[in-house]
Amino acid sequence: MSTTLHQEFAFQRSISPTATEQYSVDEVHHASPEDGELLDVVYDWDRVPVPSSLKEFGARRANVQNPLDVSGVWRFRELLPFAPDEQIVTIGEGQTMLRPSDVAAKHVGVDVGNLFLQYEGLNPSGSFKDNGMTAASTHARMVGAKIAACASTGNTSASLAIFASATGLFRAVVFVGSGKIAYGKLSQALDYGALTLQILGDFDDALSRVREVCRERNIYLCNSVNPFRLEGQKAIMYRVLEGLNWEVPDWIVVPGGNLGNSSAFGKAFMELKELGLIDRIPRLAVINAAGANTLYRLVEEDGLKWNGGDVERSLVQKFYGDMDSENRRASTLASAIEINRPVNLTKCLRAIEVCDGVVREVPDQAILEGKAVVGRGGFGCEPASGASVAGAKLLREQGVIAPSDRVVCILTGHQLKDPNITVGWHMSDTDKINAILGQETIQATPNANGPVVVENDLEKIIAALES
Ligand SMILES: *Cc1c(COP(=O)(O)O)cnc(C)c1O
Repeated sequence: MSTTLHQEFAFQRSISPTATEQYSVDEVHHASPEDGELLDVVYDWDRVPVPSSLKEFGARRANVQNPLDVSGVWRFRELLPFAPDEQIVTIGEGQTMLRPSDVAAKHVGVDVGNLFLQYEGLNPSGSFKDNGMTAASTHARMVGAKIAACASTGNTSASLAIFASATGLFRAVVFVGSGKIAYGKLSQALDYGALTLQILGDFDDALSRVREVCRERNIYLCNSVNPFRLEGQKAIMYRVLEGLNWEVPDWIVVPGGNLGNSSAFGKAFMELKELGLIDRIPRLAVINAAGANTLYRLVEEDGLKWNGGDVERSLVQKFYGDMDSENRRASTLASAIEINRPVNLTKCLRAIEVCDGVVREVPDQAILEGKAVVGRGGFGCEPASGASVAGAKLLREQGVIAPSDRVVCILTGHQLKDPNITVGWHMSDTDKINAILGQETIQATPNANGPVVVENDLEKIIAALES
C-alpha cells in the first residue's frame, strides 16, 4: 500500500456525525474547529484490502522475521490502515496474553473457567499504553516530528519515553503533575532519557499545559486526544478475540481514566461488526475508582448518553462547573485513573452505546483486593488494573453479570509499577497507604501476605516454615 493510497481511504473527522470537515491523515489536528470535539480516524473500508477472516491475522504470528507480524498491534494492520508499512514504528509491543484465572473467577463469582485476564502489563514499558504509542509514534514519523510530548500520571510518559529511546526518531518531553505518581513509572521516564517537567498542579493542569505548549512550539502531542493512539489500542480487543480462538466473550471489563481504552474498544467492535468479521458485540463495563468517578456520575446518575452524537453537553459543563466551585478533586490510590475531566468522554459514550455498556464505581479497598487476587491467581497487576476485577465482582453481585457469562478483565499495567502500595498492603501498613491517599479509607486485609520475621536460628526458621 503506498502513501497516496492511504490518504485516499483514511481520514480524520470530528467524532460528531454532524460535523462536515475532514482532514488528511498526514496532518496534525487535535480537535475539530467546527464543534471542539476530538477527531476520529475513519476509513473507507470498501477500499481497504481486509482479510475475510480474523484467523488470517493470527496466522501471521509465525512470521518471526517480520517485525510487523511480531507486533501484536501491526499484525492487524489492515484494521488500522492509516500508515504505509515502511513508516510503521514498532518495538515489539502487544505480545501480551489472555489467561483464565480460577482464583479471580471465584473472587468475582463466575463459573470457574469463565474469567479471563488480559495481561497488558507484558508490553515493553509495562502497560497497555504501548499499543497506542506505537501508532502515535508512527504518525509522528509520517509528519516528520522531531519532538513528542505528553502529560501523564506515569504510564503514558513511560511509554512515550521508551519509544523515543528505543527508536531514536524523536525527543520525548513528559509533563507530570504533582499529584501521585508511582515511582516505577517515573523511574522509566528518567531512565529512558525523557525531559521530565514536573508541573505544580494536577494531571488535568499538566494536560492543558502540554496541549498549549504543543500548539505554540509545533511539538507532536501524544496524549489520548491524539486519535492515532486509539487506533493502536483497538488491537487489545483483536488479541482478546485471538486469545479466545476468535470467539466473542460476553463482557469486557476495563478501568476508566481518560477513557481512551474504552473508546478504542468500542470503535474496534463497531468496525469489526461493520466489516462482518464478528457476528455480535460483547458488553462493555467501564470501571471508575469511587474517588475519580466523573464518568459514573454523568452516565449512571445524570443519564448522559451518546444519543446518535447529539450529546447533552450542558450536563457535562454543569458537572465540571460544580466540580470547580465545590473544589472537588479526584483522589484514589489507583493513580493511573485519578482523572477529573476524562478527555475521551464523548468517544466513550459512543462505545457504551455500541457495546450496550455500563459504568460502575468501586472503592480503593475493593480495587486493592482485586489487585491482590490477580497477584495470588495470576501474574499480578498495578492498582488501577485491579479496578476491572473489582468492577466485575460488583456487577456479578448486582446480577448484571451472570455466573455463566464469559468475562474478560483488562489488566492495564504491570505488577512492578507501584511496589509501595503492594508492599504497604501486604504488610497491613494501612497508615502508609492512607498517608499516600491523604485520607483514612483502607482497612487491614485478611488476605495480607506480609513477610514473617524470624530470628537467625535454624530451629526457629524451620518452625516458621511449618507453622
Ligand atoms: C492509562 C491507564 C489507565 C486508564 O486508561 P484510559 O484509557 O485513560 O481510560 C488505566 N490503567 C493503567 C495502568 C493506565 O496506565
